[in-house]
Amino acid sequence: MRYQSFLIKYAEIGVKGKNRYMFEDALVKQIRFALKAVDGEFEVVKESGRIYANALSDFDFEDALEALERVFGVSAICPLVQVDDLGFEELKKQVVAYLDQVYQEKDFTFKVDARRANKQYPKTSEEVNRDLGEVILEAFPGLSVDVHHPQVMVHVEIRSRINLYSQVIPGPGGMPVGTNGRAMLLLSGGIDSPVAGYMIAKRGVVIEAVYFHAPPYTSERAKEKVVELARLVSAYAGPIRLHIVNFTDIQLYIYDQCPHEELTIIMRRYMMRIGELIARKEKCLGLITGESIGQVASQTVQSLAATNDVCTMPVFRPVIGFDKQEIVDIAERIGTFETSIQPFEDCCTIFVAKHPVTRPDIRKIRHSEGKLAERIDGLVETAVETAEVVVCGRS
Ligand code: ATP
Ligand code: MG
Repeated sequence: MRYQSFLIKYAEIGVKGKNRYMFEDALVKQIRFALKAVDGEFEVVKESGRIYANALSDFDFEDALEALERVFGVSAICPLVQVDDLGFEELKKQVVAYLDQVYQEKDFTFKVDARRANKQYPKTSEEVNRDLGEVILEAFPGLSVDVHHPQVMVHVEIRSRINLYSQVIPGPGGMPVGTNGRAMLLLSGGIDSPVAGYMIAKRGVVIEAVYFHAPPYTSERAKEKVVELARLVSAYAGPIRLHIVNFTDIQLYIYDQCPHEELTIIMRRYMMRIGELIARKEKCLGLITGESIGQVASQTVQSLAATNDVCTMPVFRPVIGFDKQEIVDIAERIGTFETSIQPFEDCCTIFVAKHPVTRPDIRKIRHSEGKLAERIDGLVETAVETAEVVVCGRS
């Protein structure tokens, strides 16, 4: 007896009418995308208000389950065994064989939950429940029935064939990517921004990303690390278009013209400005950063206000109230941590002053930026125009 299919459950709260179709279609698309990475062939179908991923060939069960566990919008995954309808006597044997194989320890409480889509079936659902319950008790004396809070609910769906399932594996929740617009993630090589991208994608938002590098001050390896992080996030978020911006000339110009203790904040403001320019071109409606209040000098409330000052789009900062350890926990769970901690230089850290301002005065910062008037517009334009695009993740 092998699993041939998965029943995919999703939370339907707030998903009604037209939204429901959008939600389901986006979910089907994301499930197909996730299963592409798995050995084996699958069809993903909507059927009477449910979604099934049916295997059309042999497949790797663990890999398929892992892929499905990464699809936002999935609340639970139920591996299914499908049997032919060869009469009720045969069904009894099939159900007993199913439980025998799925559960090592036969010492749980259970309840049979039969549903008939095929109303021609010679027994009513109640009769199926009662008769199968009896057979199961006979076969496994360690089991007992609990109709109110069973540990195992044995689902028997009678259709043209019969679906058996009892395992309910939790999915990640959230909303399917593609149901909530598009946003631009400022993705560095650090721990926080990949987590921030993951969290916003989990709300159904399609993610693009922008990375600022400063060759030759930052290496090719540092850039590859960011490409790898985008690829890791794409396992959840779907393919990510990563825009790689050459930031060197802008940084050098700021370094030449502005007070050194203001470098970080002015640089961050130019990142946000350029991020927004690319975001607008790509039809993104918001920016995403991995900022968290107080984590570093450039993330005091005053610094955040100074950075935010140049943005006209909403900036989503999903880890704003998290401690570092809380962000690390998510990074470890989603598999980005090990890559994030590889020690490569970041463009922010190269030009940092010994004593950066921690409470920047926005008027003073604007005044300092006035010194860039001569060349900055041209430099920003060049940076946007020469950005390289890498699509990360299977498309
Ligand atoms: P992270 O762990 O995400 O690098 P951080 O704690 O190092 O964050 P900062 O370096 O102050 O924080 O950066 C704050 C945010 O600015 C980052 O989370 C990221 O969204 C963005 N950012 C910083 N450096 C870059 C970069 N080189 N390219 C793109 N975005 C960046
Ligand atoms: Mg960083």
